[in-house]
Parts: sequence; structure tokens; C-alpha cells
Amino acid sequence: MTITSKRDVSLVIPVYNEEKNLPVLYQELIAAADTLRGSYEIIFVDDGSTDGSFPALREIQAGDPRVKIIRLRKNFGQTAALSAGFDRARGGIIITLDADLQNDPADVPLLVAKIEEGYDIVSGWRIRRKDKFVSRRLPSKVANAIISKVTKVKLHDYGCTLKAFRRDVVKHIKLYGEMHRFIPAIASTMGIAIAEVPVNHRRRVHGKSKYNLSKSIRVVLDLLTVKFLLSYSTRPLQIFGLFGLIAGFIGGIMGGILSYQRLILKQSIANRPLLLLSVLLIVIGIQFITMGLLGEIMVRTYHESVEKPIYVIRDVIDSDSDEKI
Ligand code: UDP
Ligand code: MG
Repeated sequence: MTITSKRDVSLVIPVYNEEKNLPVLYQELIAAADTLRGSYEIIFVDDGSTDGSFPALREIQAGDPRVKIIRLRKNFGQTAALSAGFDRARGGIIITLDADLQNDPADVPLLVAKIEEGYDIVSGWRIRRKDKFVSRRLPSKVANAIISKVTKVKLHDYGCTLKAFRRDVVKHIKLYGEMHRFIPAIASTMGIAIAEVPVNHRRRVHGKSKYNLSKSIRVVLDLLTVKFLLSYSTRPLQIFGLFGLIAGFIGGIMGGILSYQRLILKQSIANRPLLLLSVLLIVIGIQFITMGLLGEIMVRTYHESVEKPIYVIRDVIDSDSDEKI
């Protein structure tokens, strides 16, 4: 079975020590995916599991040519695992979901239908989330509010892995850190349509959650990066330069006043703390502007080295070629 058409689906599933969940997950997956119109492939990314997950996957894969396994050399984290899956996915629609059975594969056709309606990203929204309140649901509520505010892409549930993407959307996105959750926000810069659908969420039965509160801190730091990349990545001088000009201007005025007092009024300024502040502000100002200029150079190098275009095409309509993006 070949996966080529825009309608075909690639299911990408990061797996880290989920041995007991895999057989059930596989059964539920094929039951749901068999109802789809196009053909599909299931890509399990074994993110350096140390339990029996890999043999379990091999067993599943041996009996089904639609199943692919990507085995990472060590535990690189969920984002890296998803990224590895994206790189090898061939379907026009990519669905991601957790391997721990908390996401319900029965929701997959719902997401696909939404993509076929014309949306580029469909995000699951776990309306009745079955996780601990203090350590998981509360921080996640706060995080969703902050991320929505900062990125201006309003979603109720950034953390839900059950999402569907049009392939050409993820193709343009490079992921680092804990950034898979920010794909909708990052992709929003390309001008895309995002939908949200309520999905089922279940309690984890086998295995342990890999995350705790410390993840929230990493997510906040990643949000900072994402915000910066979203707003200023193509014009760093605009932000650094502005700080620099403000600091330099205030420092300059203070310095001017002090110079006037010293040179014209012949007052001593050696005991004036303002002198220190003025010098500090001028130096900071110069440094910010230099940093902005360096940023400009790096941005250019970056865009050219990765051939990252400053625009993204949806379709090319040209009767001479039938090339599709
Ligand atoms: N996972 C992974 N690599 C990791 C941590 C997690 O591939 O380093 C996978 C894990 O197997 C699961 C999904 O990512 O399929 C979500 O993990 P988990 O259920 O622990 O997160 P939670 O649902 O508690 O947020
Ligand atoms: Mg889970």
C-alpha cells in the first residue's frame, strides 16, 4: 500500500516505555483508521525505551506492513520523537497522538474530517481531562491562558498531543526543546486556519507519566523563545535597537547635565552617583544596538543557510506544470 495522495493519513506516535499499552493501542488505532477513506500508515517512534516497548512494536510491525518503527538511539524527548516521525511521514494529513491510551484513537476520523473541511491544523481539546488537578490540570490551565495571550493564537488545550496537521504545514517548521505544543502558534505566522475539536481523554492505566511540574518551567522558557521568534526573528534590531536607543538617550541626557555642571558651573561631580548611572546607560545602549546589528547578521545567515523562505506558498496554479506544494 503506497501513501502518496493528499488524503492519506500518517499517524505519528511517540513511544517511551509504554510496553503494556502498545497492543491495545494498535488494535484501537486500526479499528479507527480503517473507517478512513484514504490509506494510512502508523509510525511508532521509539524514543529510547528501556522496557519491552521495542520488541512489542516489532511484533506489531511484523504482522502489518502499514506499521513503521523509527527507533531513536536514546531518549531525546517527545518533541524530537515527533519531529523524527514528521520527517518520515508521507501522508498528506499527519495525526499525532500519545501512546499511553490517554488519547482515544476513536477521535482520529473526527480530526481528519475537520482537515478535509479545509483546516490546516486541528487541535484536540481534552474537555474532561483525567489527570491530577494540582500538578497537571492547574498548571496547564494557566499555561494555556498565557500561551494564548502571548502568541495571540487562542487554544484551550495546547498540551493535547492529539492533533492533525496538513503535511505542508509541519514541513516548514523546525522543532526544538519542548516546542511541539507550539506548532499551531508557530504555524500561525504562515497564515493558516486552525480548528479545535473536543476529544475524549482517559486515565492512564499502564506505565507512568514522564512529566512533572519541572516541565512547566521548560515550557515557559520555550514560550519565551517562540514569542521572540514569532515577533522579532526577522528584525532583531527593531527590539534591541529600541532598548539601546532609550538607554543611550537617558544616559546621554544625564551625562550632558553632569558635563554642564562640571565644565560651565565648575561643580565637582566625583561624588555624584548619577555619573555612574549615566555611564552605565550609555554603555548598555551601545551594547544593545550592537547586539541588534549582530542579530540582523545572524538572522540573514540563518535564513540563507536553512533556505527558510520569508513567505510560504499555499498552491501554485500553472497550466504548464502540475506541481503541487
Ligand atoms: N514520550 C516520549 N518521550 C519522552 C517522554 C514521553 O516519546 O521523553 C511519549 C510517551 O510515551 C507518551 C507521550 O510522549 O506517548 C506523552 O507522555 P506522557 O503520557 O508521559 O505525558 P502526559 O500525558 O503525562 O502529559
Ligand atoms: Mg499521557
